[in-house]
Amino acid sequence: MYNKAIDILELCKKENKKISEIAIKKEMITRNITKEKVIEEMKIVYEVMKKSATLGLETPLISHSKITGGNALRINNYKKANDTLSGEFINMAMAMAVSTSEVNASMGVICAAPTAGASGILPSSILSAQAKFNTSNDDVILALFTAAAIGELATKNATVSGAEGGCQAECGVAASMAAAAIVELAGGTPDDSFNAASFALINVMGLICDPVAGLVEYPCFLRNASGVVNAFISADLALAGVQCLIPFDEVLDSMYKVGKSLPDALRETALGGIANTPAAKEIARRFYYEDNK
Ligand code: SF4
Repeated sequence: MYNKAIDILELCKKENKKISEIAIKKEMITRNITKEKVIEEMKIVYEVMKKSATLGLETPLISHSKITGGNALRINNYKKANDTLSGEFINMAMAMAVSTSEVNASMGVICAAPTAGASGILPSSILSAQAKFNTSNDDVILALFTAAAIGELATKNATVSGAEGGCQAECGVAASMAAAAIVELAGGTPDDSFNAASFALINVMGLICDPVAGLVEYPCFLRNASGVVNAFISADLALAGVQCLIPFDEVLDSMYKVGKSLPDALRETALGGIANTPAAKEIARRFYYEDNK
């Protein structure tokens, strides 16, 4: 039914439908299942996302390696006790994004969106938008199909793997998915959603993957916190009427080419970026040779 953003936009215009409606129709056709079944499955995804985004807000979640943890709780407490610089909304969104990252690092259940490393951005984005707009669960679940369509395009036409394309392919695509979904929830057009998705990816074009000790923890949780902020500002830019000069399909192509041109050291090997600093090497040495002897 579609392989590119341009196909989705054409279908939206021709059938006067939202991106989510086109994505649902495709799922029904390709899997030969009913609309009720498609939505039922996404409800399960929504519940997993909700649980992972809130689990770490009141309880410190420590990673399996014990290298990171408790930061969602820290951000939530900071938000509660202070007139924060970036405000309650952003701090709550960051806390929820970090919560899911911590659930992932502590071997809990998350929904990879598009990957485990970037799994905090979409749940936090949709839950924050839901709280802001007072949207029903049903509408939020529909918006998740818009996010899924963006993720599908990235998977088909580029990559969502940090090992292949760097963190731009993981946290960048996650922010793209979230931005498009937020725009739809806010009442924007399919064009607005794709503009927002493009902005989110352009904003982090070239972002490397440099996990300390090779573990999906640090800087991953920071990039989930910044990823949800990226999603919201990208959505706001699009809703304000800022036009993206580059179509989403071409932005994806560029991201893929940039990812392929990154040296191996900057693609999840833990040989470059912050993973290659003396401090990170000492953390890795302790983890692999002392703490787990
Ligand atoms: S730094 Fe690497 S492992 Fe961590 S979220 Fe980004 S792409 Fe994934």
